[in-house]
Amino acid sequence: SQPTPLAERSPDDLASFAAEQREAYAALKERGLKLDLTRGKPASEQLDLSNDLLTLPRGFTDASGTDTRNYGGLDGIKELREMFAELLWVEPEQLVAGGNSSLTMMKDTLVDLLLHGGVDSPRPWSQEEKVTFVCPVPGYDRHFTLLESFGIEMVTVPMNDDGPDAEAVAALVATDPSIKGMWIVPTYANPSGSVVTQEVAARLASMETAAPDFKIFWDNAYALHHLTRDEAKSADILSLAAAAGHPHRPIMFASTSKITWAGAGVAFLAASVENVKWYLGHLGKGSIGPDKVNQLRHAQFFGSAQGVRDHMVRHREIIAPKFAEVERVLTERLDGLGIATWTRPTGGYFVSLDVLDGTASRVVQLAKEAGIALTPAGSSFPLGDDPRDRNIRLAPTFPPLGQVTEAMEAVATCVLLAAAEQASGAHRA
Ligand code: PMP
Repeated sequence: SQPTPLAERSPDDLASFAAEQREAYAALKERGLKLDLTRGKPASEQLDLSNDLLTLPRGFTDASGTDTRNYGGLDGIKELREMFAELLWVEPEQLVAGGNSSLTMMKDTLVDLLLHGGVDSPRPWSQEEKVTFVCPVPGYDRHFTLLESFGIEMVTVPMNDDGPDAEAVAALVATDPSIKGMWIVPTYANPSGSVVTQEVAARLASMETAAPDFKIFWDNAYALHHLTRDEAKSADILSLAAAAGHPHRPIMFASTSKITWAGAGVAFLAASVENVKWYLGHLGKGSIGPDKVNQLRHAQFFGSAQGVRDHMVRHREIIAPKFAEVERVLTERLDGLGIATWTRPTGGYFVSLDVLDGTASRVVQLAKEAGIALTPAGSSFPLGDDPRDRNIRLAPTFPPLGQVTEAMEAVATCVLLAAAEQASGAHRA
């Protein structure tokens, strides 16, 4: 039998519901738990999948005979670039294999655009009166804090199931020349799990922009991170943009942070050949080459693009049950009450939970006082400001399965109490 939504209950019903929730929460606090659902990190069991890296590389020359121990090869070793070019649907000459962090590549790209301007910029972005980025929300907190650190303004658009609201983006960029770029996590977005459709990608690739040097930061951090057999294929943004006459618009990023080791993987940047030349030109002022030994051991470890796909299946087997557990607990505890909605991602690292407007920070506070660390409310919005105070990002990959269950039961208890407080007017914080 379905429960009655809180909004349809009588004041008496609500009062006893609130009393029940206060009791459940008190019992939860008694338990003195210490659990953490904050960051999207691989579990150690996932890291173990790549322990053969510790015995690699065999030898030290790459396929073209280069001694990887030495300086040079700024764009990365060829065999790894060929492997990931296939996986990311780009040409090897459009792809750079770099250091261990794609976020660093994003920061470098942004700094170069600010200090030097891009291949199609009339002047460095820092010489503009104002620089603005379009930010689909909810989104990745580090994207927003990076922009904030450079004084770049942010305007938000909704992130829908099929990607950013393309018509809203098109309307903004058409008239405001200060809008120089936008973020997109195209596949299994952080935190919504959305996948950008071919249609949305085509619209963003072809829309007219007031700025001649508009850039799409296409952060494909979860390109290969499927949670089901139904594997989403990322839209081919480089081809779409080139075909639309805007070849320099997209800059794609990816990494093996959640394929091998989050702290010792390989990151990638893909873009038009001119953009790649531009990026390497600036990079070369501060580097004589990347860690090619790490790149070589990655190439040997995977063996082929198919080797990467096979490896991702082993990740899926570890983390899919954790996502299933999040879904099970949320459904059992919250479904039908009209107090929460949540995503059912088919890939990536997150579940995005929307609670009643005005209660997300209360839920996070209640959870904290009961020993469960949740990502601060508002994190998925620029400046940490969720205008509806309703979104909470859940990251279930890192804790063992049993802890995911316990933490989610606790989250449900906090969501119920916060909703009960609001519905019965009992909470006047
Ligand atoms: N982009 C997104 C969308 C992410 O979620 C993350 C990791 N949480 C990163 C980038 C970081 O990538 P890297 O480890 O390659 O710096």
